[in-house]
Amino acid sequence: MNKLLEAIRDSERIAIAGHIRPDGDCVGSALGLRQYIAENYPGKEITVFLEEVNPKFRFLSGISEIHSEPDGENYDLMIAVDCSDPERLGKFEPIFRSSGTKAVIDHHISNHGFGDIRIIEPDRSSASEIVCTLLDPEKISREAAEALYMGIVHDTGVFKYSNVTGRTMEIAGKLMEYGVDHSRIIDETFYARTYIQSQVLGRAILESIQLMDGACIFSYIKNKYFDFYGAVYQDLDGIVEQLRITKGVEVAILIVEIEPGVNKVSLRSNTRVDVASIAEKFGGGGHIRAAGCTIDGTVYDVINNLTLYIEAQLEGTKIV
Ligand code: 5GP
Ligand code: MN
Repeated sequence: MNKLLEAIRDSERIAIAGHIRPDGDCVGSALGLRQYIAENYPGKEITVFLEEVNPKFRFLSGISEIHSEPDGENYDLMIAVDCSDPERLGKFEPIFRSSGTKAVIDHHISNHGFGDIRIIEPDRSSASEIVCTLLDPEKISREAAEALYMGIVHDTGVFKYSNVTGRTMEIAGKLMEYGVDHSRIIDETFYARTYIQSQVLGRAILESIQLMDGACIFSYIKNKYFDFYGAVYQDLDGIVEQLRITKGVEVAILIVEIEPGVNKVSLRSNTRVDVASIAEKFGGGGHIRAAGCTIDGTVYDVINNLTLYIEAQLEGTKIV
């Protein structure tokens, strides 16, 4: 039995939490793990803490049990999933700090290690894939498998990003054997867009600008667009991916003004640029080909800051 399952066995009050602005992998790994514990360790009190979750994940078992506000402290065990540093837990970080045992399941290259039980594997596609490796396959239900499968689908862009390995495919294949409705999960949670989402995507593409002879592309979502379109941050899923697949692009940047003068930046690269290292320069992190950070200032400030590092990597010079 691994250390995590031992800690689960030995704890009465267990909390699970993920990163701010939770994505599919974050929700999938948290709910998959919750489902597994609820089904196999009767009598445990399990609380899942996540910021507001996208309504498209509503079909997942346990979704209605999520606490979006901090509630209670001193859990015997808290498991942070898909979270590269404690600050990324946002308002749930104090709960993590106060818990007896702190476990971390993560796959970010920018995770430099925290917590008592550290299951940090940057060569895994997703936190959900790692969770699968920790569980007893005999004891996984269809409901748990659905959440974990969805998590893998989202962090791999439906099994196509460079983080996919043969092991990822084997694990996803095994999850299908629990009766997961893979087509529905992929269509309804990954590809489907609301009208609002299509409108914002269209605007972002229309207003995108190429730099560096087309090797870099960026788009900027102004804060006022949220009100104008009636959109929320989660409605921007997939925009940076659409920018990335533009012919000739190596780095795609989506700059979202989450409040006036404060920008959430998403970075994607295709084959050469290590965007995790760039995001880390600005206090963020992520993976080599997908990373993010928050940068204050105007869109020009953001672009000037980032392009310095992007150009240096494209030219093979090192800026420290
Ligand atoms: P996205 O661009 O989709 O928000 O994030 C891409 C990847 O970078 C995800 O794995 C996400 O967890 C990570 N990431 C995004 N923003 C931040 C940030 O501000 N800090 C850290 N440490 N990681 C981030
Ligand atoms: Mn992830």
